[in-house]
Amino acid sequence: MARVVVTGGAGFIGSHLCDALMAQGHEVICVDNLYTGSKRNFEAHRQNARFEFIRHDVTQPLMLEADEIYHLACPASPVHYQFNPVKTVKTNVIGTINMLGVAKRVRARLLLASTSEVYGDPLQHPQKEEYWGNVNPIGPRSCYDEGKRIAETLTVNYHLQHRLNTKIIRIFNTYGPRMLFNDGRVVSNFIVQALRGEDITLYGDGTQTRSFCYVSDMVSGIMAAMVKKDFYGPVNLGNPNELSIAELAELVLELTGSGSKLVFRKLPADDPTRRRPDCTLAEQELGWTPKVDLREGLKKTIADFEARLKGGEKCPK
Ligand code: NAD
Ligand code: UDP
Repeated sequence: MARVVVTGGAGFIGSHLCDALMAQGHEVICVDNLYTGSKRNFEAHRQNARFEFIRHDVTQPLMLEADEIYHLACPASPVHYQFNPVKTVKTNVIGTINMLGVAKRVRARLLLASTSEVYGDPLQHPQKEEYWGNVNPIGPRSCYDEGKRIAETLTVNYHLQHRLNTKIIRIFNTYGPRMLFNDGRVVSNFIVQALRGEDITLYGDGTQTRSFCYVSDMVSGIMAAMVKKDFYGPVNLGNPNELSIAELAELVLELTGSGSKLVFRKLPADDPTRRRPDCTLAEQELGWTPKVDLREGLKKTIADFEARLKGGEKCPK
């Protein structure tokens, strides 16, 4: 049993990670400021003595003892990370320095949750880890993608300079139960719109592509990266099954049986045209490949959204 800190542990991916760590018998400390996270997400563990929640903003220093730190704290949806972009930069820069500081003091392993956004609007396809990316440093996404790039820089230099055992993973679009209704990302938007019979909002002409990974696959990849000896990354984690956003809309309509109409809205600035991970490195180094296909994962996600809507969870417009 290890003592494991999960920053961002009340959020979408972080809470599924906490579930998996709890199931393995670890002591889990969830550190979260509840910006986009929710106490509902760790309700199942509240009475468990192995689980602890600390409401804390990672931009502030923190004293903790731990064997492993999964550093996920950062809003992931463009809507949420652009709401207060300066804060997003601080979370990525100061927050990452603070957590690396904890890791250095107690010699814990630290895994940084980076993102496919470090590749920007990629000029190479699919994206391999060696690709340096095509990022606009002053664009609306820069608080997040440049923030994550400096978080990677910090992490690799703590590894090289202080010989910390760090891991960098680059997460590609991930979806599943517990995404917020008002998350603003495409999977949750389309499911909520379809279930409520509202128009499905396609940004641009819907030909832009993404590759969606189900959250249980993502969690197993993240945990595989943490335990892999002498491996520091960066490594792509995602599902290489690429489809257009219009195709995703059609699939959500089919699986929900909804009669919602497709409507076209302006494409946000700097919206990447194509995105698909090259997962060769993850397969070779971690023995990891995603297992859940999109249809199966969407069905589970839709069932979760339906249950939460029926259960009266608020669904802000
Ligand atoms: P999320 O918004 O559901 O979770 C982020 C969590 O971090 C939330 O619980 C939030 O309250 C917390 N948080 C934000 N700022 C904080 C701060 N300053 N101090 C403490 N806690 C803070 O997002 P998610 O989808 O679960 O993403 C988790 C991580 O994975 C993020 O680092 C994100 O950048 C990365 N990621 C996610 C995706 C994806 O598709 N979901 C893709 C690429 C990278
Ligand atoms: N998108 C869309 N309709 C929506 C929300 C998003 O067409 O209601 C598009 C968005 O423009 C982007 C893709 O879906 O091309 C994925 O967007 P998301 O915000 O989920 O993630 P990211 O752009 O960070 O990959």
